[in-house]
Amino acid sequence: MTTGTDTLTRHWIDGTWQEGPGSIAVVNPATEETIAEVPAGGASEIDTAVVAARHAFPAWAATPLADRVATVLAIREGIKARSAEIAASITAEMGSPTKFANSVQVGMPIATSKGVAGLAESFPWTEEIGNSLVVREPIGVVGAVTPWNYPLHQVVAKVAPALVAGCTIVLKPSEVAPLTAGILADITREAGLPGGVFNVVHGTGPDAGEALAKHPLVDMVSFTGSVPAGRRVQEVAAATVKRVALELGGKSANIVLDDADLTQAVKLGLGNCFINGGQTCTAWTRLLVPESLHDQVVEMAVEQSAKYTVGDPTEESTRIGPMSSDRQRERVEHYITQGVEEGAELAAGGPGRPEGLERGAYVRPTIFSGVRPDMTIAQEEIFGPVLSVMPYADEDEAVEIANATVYGLAGAVFAGSQERGVEVAKRMRTGQVDVNGGAFNPLAPFGGYKQSGTGRELGRYGLEEFLEVKSIQL
Ligand code: NAD
Repeated sequence: MTTGTDTLTRHWIDGTWQEGPGSIAVVNPATEETIAEVPAGGASEIDTAVVAARHAFPAWAATPLADRVATVLAIREGIKARSAEIAASITAEMGSPTKFANSVQVGMPIATSKGVAGLAESFPWTEEIGNSLVVREPIGVVGAVTPWNYPLHQVVAKVAPALVAGCTIVLKPSEVAPLTAGILADITREAGLPGGVFNVVHGTGPDAGEALAKHPLVDMVSFTGSVPAGRRVQEVAAATVKRVALELGGKSANIVLDDADLTQAVKLGLGNCFINGGQTCTAWTRLLVPESLHDQVVEMAVEQSAKYTVGDPTEESTRIGPMSSDRQRERVEHYITQGVEEGAELAAGGPGRPEGLERGAYVRPTIFSGVRPDMTIAQEEIFGPVLSVMPYADEDEAVEIANATVYGLAGAVFAGSQERGVEVAKRMRTGQVDVNGGAFNPLAPFGGYKQSGTGRELGRYGLEEFLEVKSIQL
């Protein structure tokens, strides 16, 4: 692995690796060992990077589209070539099991970057409306702030469309899992991206993140993370009236209708709840089932959960690694304890560490049954492997419960027919719904209703985020 002690842990500004003041320890959550340190950048490093991005903007925006697309594809090739190194970096910095890191953590950015590169040519960059020529132009300098749960995917979901659009970027990756961003910076160098077009500044949210969001030369902030941090980004960005795109948290409902294939609904439902140790914004953490099927579904889910081996993320057989940090482990445990205190029934798991895992940020995959909509575990995002099974009386009540949180990011419906599933999906106030296990589509718009965010990522809609629209009258 190249990460750890070398240059890739420095800031990447204006095409050079730059050391900075301060340091942030990167801790492997499985071993509890410090594996690297990155600098703790602040307003000064952000300013240097933003000025570099500003200088690089006119030339990059004027680079022919075909060349920008070719560069994004070259970066994609670089990711493919270094996929094992990237997967190992992600496993080390945030605990994703090796198998999942290879297939999904690295697989998704490869798919989404291909998606946006592929649609660039057919995208309507210019359009005639009456006597007007309407042109789409890059918005300018983009400040990107990303979380730790998918350290490459969340970055590429912003960087690839921004580069295709003709924008330049300053990225502030998560301080919990910052190492993979360094590998990506190196890949952009190898791909021949001109200096200043893509920059990485390490640091904490309140220091580097806020400095980026409020910088007057940043035209847009694209943020992925929690609701409180997103709210703060929106506040500090408001002073300069810049565009803010927010991809925030979720509390997604999986509605299982009375005529659904229960085996499929429970298997996929649990898989989507426990995905990446439950540290996934779209996780289907609420399983809504007809009252009459509640006990049967709980039994099936408990049986299924036994297949989720918890342990060392580098082991091939591991399906759930440690939480990304000890702080996250404490947070998840706190919610599990609160669920018990509020009267939800523990069907599997519970507070405390899994047997034999005394060291590392491990939690027990947990299933609560008989969860009521007013309970904290039914309302708040836990971000760990915790499923709440919730009974409902009829379809109307199922939709009402599904919509009764501040979030609206994702969801699912399992129904006897696709038509019935789609009808229920349309009633859900959420940005994505999978019917009967519909597969992830890297070209489909991705984003939230309500407090799950503003704006959309991926595909054509994701590209539009990074564009301004100009009308020229003829
Ligand atoms: P977080 O909000 O703690 O941190 C995310 C990023 O924001 C980090 O880089 C952090 O340093 C930065 N940040 C924190 N405070 C800031 C501030 N005041 N100003 C500017 N930047 C600040 O989130 P996390 O714990 O890293 O990630 C988990 C959260 O991310 C969950 O809520 C999850 O649902 C959400 N998420 C959403 C999506 C999506 O696409 N909707 C995807 C992944 C994760």
